[in-house]
Amino acid sequence: MTDQAPNPPPGDLFVVSAPSGAGKSTLLRRLRDELPDLVVSVSHTTRPRRPDETHARDYFFVGRDDFQAMVDRDDFLEHALVFNQDHYGTARLPVVEALGRGRDVYLDIDPAGMRQVKAAWPGAVTIMLLPPSFEELERRLRGRGTESEEDVRRRLDTARAEIDAAPEYDYLVVNDDLARAVEAVGAIIRARRSRRERVWPTIQLILT
Ligand code: 5GP
Repeated sequence: MTDQAPNPPPGDLFVVSAPSGAGKSTLLRRLRDELPDLVVSVSHTTRPRRPDETHARDYFFVGRDDFQAMVDRDDFLEHALVFNQDHYGTARLPVVEALGRGRDVYLDIDPAGMRQVKAAWPGAVTIMLLPPSFEELERRLRGRGTESEEDVRRRLDTARAEIDAAPEYDYLVVNDDLARAVEAVGAIIRARRSRRERVWPTIQLILT
């Protein structure tokens, strides 16, 4: 007999993409309050830090050489050039470790990254958060006031291209009402927790 606890069934990997301005940072903040055990992956990026951002909390801000060294070592689960200017990537090890500990992991990445994750981890659950309209998206992007006109244009063009990828996602959530969108994404995550493959090992312990 062994007193070692059995390995928990692996957690699920959730990939959430949203064009910038679709409201994903606010959604994520609310989701974390509802699901405090969710592991939110912190990406690496070569983009400069914004004044309200903190290193290692919002991103690991790294130089291009360090980013490339990680690519060369195959440290990334996925990585992509976003808005045609900055590199972003998800380090593989923390994600694999958290999943192995039975934790659910949340990746906030673009469609190019989603495709790479799906190829590496076919069981990943993919969700796209959509703005209610392009007009609303533009209003939100301008309202933020943190980006230059050129940046806003680039983000709008990218948003259009990202929304074109919507048919590739498992779930589409329109963010016309924040509380409803949080509820929808939370429901998707919770429903996966009742999947037979995940519950079965525990059920077996209880019922035998
Ligand atoms: P921002 O610069 O506004 O924080 O993020 C810009 C875009 O980069 C977002 O659409 C976000 O989904 C994407 N992004 C953030 N981290 C990653 C990552 O690790 N990989 C990929 N592929 N995209 C990312």
